[in-house]
Amino acid sequence: MMDACTNHPTVKALSVCHGCGKPYCKSCLDEGKDFYYCKKPSCQELFRLENARALLPPRVNCPRCSSELELSDGDRASKKFHCPECDAFLDFTVDPPIALDNKDYTEVFSSMNQGHIALLKSILDDAGLDYYVTGEYFLATDPLIQPAKFYVLNDQVTEAREIVKKFSANLFTVTRRKDLSD
Ligand SMILES: [Zn+2]
Ligand SMILES: [Zn+2]
Ligand SMILES: [Zn+2]
Repeated sequence: MMDACTNHPTVKALSVCHGCGKPYCKSCLDEGKDFYYCKKPSCQELFRLENARALLPPRVNCPRCSSELELSDGDRASKKFHCPECDAFLDFTVDPPIALDNKDYTEVFSSMNQGHIALLKSILDDAGLDYYVTGEYFLATDPLIQPAKFYVLNDQVTEAREIVKKFSANLFTVTRRKDLSD
C-alpha cells in the first residue's frame, strides 16, 4: 500500500518522485518518459533533462543520403520527418533510423497556415495515422516559404481524405463566419 502524498496527507500517493524519492499524489507529479517528478525546482530540473533526452538532437544525418538536416522542435519530438535532399521519409523512432520510399505515401493536404498545420497534425495523431509533413524546415524561425504538405501511408489514404474533408469544411465555416462579421 502506497503512503499518503507528502503535500496532501489525506490523499493517497500515486508514485514516488524520481528526484527526491518522496511519495506524491497525481496532482503533485509530472510524468516524464520513464519516471515521475515532483514540483520542487531541483526535481523539475531532472524532469526537464529527461524530456530533453527524449527529443532528437537539433541536427541529424539522413540515413539514406547522409545530408545533415536541421530539425524543427516538432520534428525533434515526433522523430518522423522528410529529407529534402533525397526526398525520403525518415523514421527516427526506431534504432537505427530508417528511410521510407516516398511512393508508399500520398499527399492529402497542403497549407501555408501554421495554425491549420498544427491542428491537422493533432487530428491525425489522434486518429493514429502514419503521416509525414514536408516543407516545414523554416517553421522554427521564419514564416513558411513553401506550403507544408501532408503525406499519408497509401493504405490509410481513404481514411485520411475523410478526415481532411471534415477538417477543411470546418475551416471554411470558421473563415466564412469571420468574413460575415467583419
Ligand atoms: Zn522530488
Ligand atoms: Zn499531493
Ligand atoms: Zn536524404
